[in-house]
Amino acid sequence: MTGTALFEALRRGDRRALARAITLLESSRPDDREKAEEVIETLLPETGGAVRIGISGPPGAGKSTFIERFGLEGLALGRRVAVLAVDPGSKRGGGAILGDKTRMAELARAPAAFIRPSSAGGSRGGVARRTRETILLCEAAGFDAVLVETVGVGQAETAVAEIVDMFVLILPPAGGDELQGIKRGVVELADLVLVNKADGELAGMAHRTAADYTSAIGLIRPPYPEWQVPVRAISALEGIGIREVWDDVARFRAALEYTGAWSRRRAEQARSALWSEIGDSLVDHFRAAPGVAERLAAIEEEVMAGTRTPTAAARALLGPFFSQD
Ligand code: GDP
Repeated sequence: MTGTALFEALRRGDRRALARAITLLESSRPDDREKAEEVIETLLPETGGAVRIGISGPPGAGKSTFIERFGLEGLALGRRVAVLAVDPGSKRGGGAILGDKTRMAELARAPAAFIRPSSAGGSRGGVARRTRETILLCEAAGFDAVLVETVGVGQAETAVAEIVDMFVLILPPAGGDELQGIKRGVVELADLVLVNKADGELAGMAHRTAADYTSAIGLIRPPYPEWQVPVRAISALEGIGIREVWDDVARFRAALEYTGAWSRRRAEQARSALWSEIGDSLVDHFRAAPGVAERLAAIEEEVMAGTRTPTAAARALLGPFFSQD
């Protein structure tokens, strides 16, 4: 397919064209990436329309069960929902999220939904860059809610929080000790906390966990003065409290748009993306440079062994790099 045909099909909302464009974006071949970037550049004026929601939480918390319910509810509300499942830890073909379309079987079959598992190839920058651009492609294809799912508790969350409008943390019901296992930093990123599995025997514990988090969050300085982070007990399995999450999304957006924080967040994200692109490109260039590439491993070892200071080592590598042309 030529660039123009791809571009036309994509803006008509053709899901196969969207999938194809994302594949180009994820390709390791520079000419593929260039083609994808061209499509994104051209479509840029048609992007930005979706609400971008990050969804994260420990394995087993019920993320995919939630996304299926929440996505279907969104479709019922007339939204077009795209789900990008980011698996930071795995290479293509493996991993916990990949190939798990079956986890969201009903949503995957819906014509107004799009589900795409994607591997970040192991790098934090990889998560952010590709997913950020994939979000833009989804928006150009007319999706007005983009859900970005990530697994685990750690770096990937931060990367995802940096590219979405709203970060939702899904937690299982848990007692005090387990509660501490969720890193404070991750909770601080949350714009909404959902304690899942508030049904059957677990209902009581889920409500207690939600109450615990409500007080814990009260101690954290809120990221936005205009938004008090809600903590809700929900049941993804039984569909309890799901519609309310869409209401939260709408309220969050309205509150932040009212003060201008919504567009400021996006502008800040765009600026930091610019700087990470510049940083990544410079580092790639540096690593590949003559006088650096062949000495890098040895110098790294010396630093790790403590026989050379990081400062001296960096200077030794950067000196010849800067003095080239
Ligand atoms: P993920 O790893 O976070 O994506 O979690 P899954 O969505 O795969 O769910 C993990 C397990 O928890 C599965 O066995 C689900 O059936 C179960 N589960 C998910 N949501 C709920 C819920 O609301 N209530 C109950 N009781 N179980 C749930």
